[in-house]
Amino acid sequence: MVDAAHQALKKYFGYDQFRKGQDQIISRLLDGRDTVGIMPTGGGKSLCYQIPALLFSGVTLVISPLISLMKDQVDALGNAGIHATYINSSLSFAEGKSRLAAAASGNYKLVYIAPERLSVPDFVRALERMNVSLVAIDEAHCISQWGHDFRPSYRSIPAMITRFKQKPTVVALTATATPHVTADIRQMLEIAPDGVVATGFARDNLNFQVIRGQNADTFLLDYLKKNQDQPGIVYAATRKEVDRLYARLAQKGLAVGRYHAGLSEQERASSQERFLYDDLTVLVATNAFGMGINKSNVRYVIHYNMPRNIEAYYQEAGRAGRDGEKSDCILLFAPQDIRLQKFFIDQSEMDDVLKKAEYHKLDQMIGYCHTETCLQDYILRYFGEQSPQPCGHCGNCFDTREKSDVTVDAQKVLSCVKRLRERYGKMMVTKVLAGASDQKLLSFRLNRLPTYGIMKDRTQKQISEFIDFLTAEQYLVQQGGAFPVLALSERSLPVLKGEVKVLKKGSVRAERLAVDDA
Ligand code: ADP
Ligand code: ZN
Repeated sequence: MVDAAHQALKKYFGYDQFRKGQDQIISRLLDGRDTVGIMPTGGGKSLCYQIPALLFSGVTLVISPLISLMKDQVDALGNAGIHATYINSSLSFAEGKSRLAAAASGNYKLVYIAPERLSVPDFVRALERMNVSLVAIDEAHCISQWGHDFRPSYRSIPAMITRFKQKPTVVALTATATPHVTADIRQMLEIAPDGVVATGFARDNLNFQVIRGQNADTFLLDYLKKNQDQPGIVYAATRKEVDRLYARLAQKGLAVGRYHAGLSEQERASSQERFLYDDLTVLVATNAFGMGINKSNVRYVIHYNMPRNIEAYYQEAGRAGRDGEKSDCILLFAPQDIRLQKFFIDQSEMDDVLKKAEYHKLDQMIGYCHTETCLQDYILRYFGEQSPQPCGHCGNCFDTREKSDVTVDAQKVLSCVKRLRERYGKMMVTKVLAGASDQKLLSFRLNRLPTYGIMKDRTQKQISEFIDFLTAEQYLVQQGGAFPVLALSERSLPVLKGEVKVLKKGSVRAERLAVDDA
């Protein structure tokens, strides 16, 4: 059977060997074992169901949220001599019906459908009559409300699968799933824990970098001027910001386009086309742009604002370098980004449990912006993966500034948090350490604590940034939702006991001198 898979790979796709994970997933599916496949963007997820589709006797149903991608995939399969079609809202009723009938009589090996179709009873009844061998669920994280792109229509998938006379084999594929989301996908689709094939999230050709404390516009203009002939994407958090940046960059003579949900469909389609065909080099966009965009030579993805969580960030940044060539993923951090993201969470219609989970994810995103350890490592750890060693090519790995011993400062902060019984947020901890005479602080008599004013030789800004650093390095954790409190972590105790040293690039004091000099 696996020989047949190799032959199909060569015959239809012209490739000589499978990539990491592909053979494992394919041979499981050919044995009829349901599988969750986790592979990075560009890892080659499509072949994991396209090859089995060719070898199975029945139809392979591919559920995908990406309408634009369906047509591309079906066209590409057609060119390779494979019968495939798609059914989604872009078709007329009559056309959809006729494709469905053709699929039922076995004219296609693959049928791509949008999940929304599953809420149409007639459609589901028609599916039931098909001889379906394999159900492939693309962007499978959309099934989980803990994922970053939950789609309620995905919830109909498990019920649909049970309606076939003979249970089809199931494969769920995604590039972004935390351990929590993976477990959710498994449970929903009733896939055993050993049914997960993960090839790792690492993308070694991506150079991650965080820029803090610099003027974002100046940095962006410099970078874009230096890379004028290279295609890239600049993500901004709001439509207004996209419009402003677009105007600014256009005025500087860059071949720039823009994309956000507030533009006409025509303008969006035109920006996308022109960018795909290298007519525009820079595209400034909100996160509305990108799902299903298959442009392989994107050389950089710059986030002008911090996104809402690591999953969203990794997916957006991951649109760089799909061809495997070295590419930059740069995040421009400013403290007001935090406020904006909190506002988005508060305004959303999520219930309190989900909001709390979102706040927690936001904290980990903020941690990414402040960590001094390898950025790739940080992302992999977020996805529950141990990475063997620092990547050696991210902004932090390149940062060769001397580390200095800040253990005493760390002990001051940690003991203050302890004295405050882990009941106050960053702002109050900062004020107590700085010895501020704040009304609220005095009314709680926090000025009587032994840790009151023990860092009064620093500004509140420095203390607050140092707390961000300790949080990013997990010596402290933020707990709670909209108004999190600072608490100790398992890393805190050894520091308080003097068993481990805390090292930081550029000491707190040195930063102060720099500020004073300026
Ligand atoms: P994903 O969906 O995981 O982001 P795709 O399925 O779009 O990735 O595949 C990314 C690219 O890798 C495509 O151009 C595809 O043709 C190519 N590819 C996939 N599998 C192989 C393989 N075994 N050998 C060479 N190229 C491959
Ligand atoms: Zn690194």
